[in-house]
Amino acid sequence: MKNIKLVALSGSKRTIVKVDGVKIGEGFTVIAGPCSVESEEQTLETARAVKKAGADMFRGGAFKPRTSPYAFQGLGLKALKILEKAKKETGMPIVTEVLDTRDVSWVCEYADILQIGARNMQNFSLLKEAGKSNKTVLLKRGMHSTIEEWLNCAEYILNEGNPNVILCERGIRTFETYTRNTLDLSAIPAVKELTHLPVIVDPSHAVGKVSLIEPMCLAAVAAGADGLIIEVHRNPTEALSDKEQALNPRQFSDIMKKTRALYKYVTELRG
Ligand code: PEP
Ligand code: MN
Repeated sequence: MKNIKLVALSGSKRTIVKVDGVKIGEGFTVIAGPCSVESEEQTLETARAVKKAGADMFRGGAFKPRTSPYAFQGLGLKALKILEKAKKETGMPIVTEVLDTRDVSWVCEYADILQIGARNMQNFSLLKEAGKSNKTVLLKRGMHSTIEEWLNCAEYILNEGNPNVILCERGIRTFETYTRNTLDLSAIPAVKELTHLPVIVDPSHAVGKVSLIEPMCLAAVAAGADGLIIEVHRNPTEALSDKEQALNPRQFSDIMKKTRALYKYVTELRG
């Protein structure tokens, strides 16, 4: 593969990213939470529920990359302060998206992991800025990006001196319209043979439909993913963004049990 150096797998040494007490790349890590932080009550209630169900980290958007400028854009600083409270109460590290280079340094005061979203995967200024920070970066695959382009974006971050990158397969755009995107499951073993970085799967944005999330979580485990990032809302019908794909806490808890059980089985099987 062209031009990848720092992210390339050489030998068998894989990166384990440590965030507070959580190790990504060792065992199976689950990140869960709402698409957007909408209020303190919605966020804290959801955080308590996902923690109880066994999530390792909490996600929530403060800045939302929306197709329409009239759609909910996120609460910004107010949301980050709410996420801080959720961390204080539950102990879960916080994953939140940063959209703009100008926000990287101050968002770092609240986030444990900076998410760079699909729409910004090739925002090279943002990649460089995140690469200069001391935070772990969750780099989503662009919806029209090849694996080679994706890994080159991770290379940008490592090239700035930040070795802590987690890759996230979140589905790519194809001719299919029934699902929101097409989850490229083969990208997981492909990326594992090309790079030492951990790779997780986002089934929520991949399929965009609650009914399809459980099978894709199980498939991600079978394909060798290091974890999942899943959207959960205390009451999906009220969600201000991505409500069709939000699990309620009961659905999330059920999927967690099955996913953890399958991970255990698959790990034994692989020896
Ligand atoms: C999100 O995580 O809410 C999000 C916008 O994801 P993506 O960049 O994968 O669309
Ligand atoms: Mn979302």
